[in-house]
Amino acid sequence: MPYLCCLLENATMMNMTPLGTKQLYCSQCSARLIVAMPSGDNKPRYVCSSCNTVFYENPKPVVGCVIEHAGKILLCKRSIEPRLGYWTVPAGFMELGETLQQAASRETLEEACANVALGPLLAIIDVPEAGQIHVFFRGTLPDGKFAAGEESLAVDLYAPEEIPWSDLAFRSVYIALKQYLVQKAAGKEWVHTDIALKNRES
Ligand code: ZN
Repeated sequence: MPYLCCLLENATMMNMTPLGTKQLYCSQCSARLIVAMPSGDNKPRYVCSSCNTVFYENPKPVVGCVIEHAGKILLCKRSIEPRLGYWTVPAGFMELGETLQQAASRETLEEACANVALGPLLAIIDVPEAGQIHVFFRGTLPDGKFAAGEESLAVDLYAPEEIPWSDLAFRSVYIALKQYLVQKAAGKEWVHTDIALKNRES
């Protein structure tokens, strides 16, 4: 028997899946999925009960940028969940076929209607509880133009002392913005690595 199988509905095994996105049916043959430990593996996976295809779940990269223009930082007020109404920097999930830089530029165009000139990497932040890795670049706005895209209620430039720290959408955005200002004050640039935990204080 190749798998130590157990049914999808088994709550104990469901809790053992790292993130437990609910997948019911096989995308290859449409048969019911089960949660099982493939032989030679050490984690429960979704496995097709008919064709035995294993569906691996892995962290997803989110890419964004901290954009400075005229001494201020570009922030977007989210018009979508999660964290509707809270402020973020332009960022979002990578699409297949994109590079990190292409994703950051696209998200900036979508959320802030802005053409960013990307600079070097600023931060790589693990978000293990969300199954994500957040990557932030530095950026500037050569033409200074921006506007609220469909996913934003508002887009504006904030001086460092005006940044709404308690109204930021995500812990990783807080870390990236803090790092940007720390490095600017230090007159040096480096790639900051960090871990954003949900229960950590902003
Ligand atoms: Zn199948």
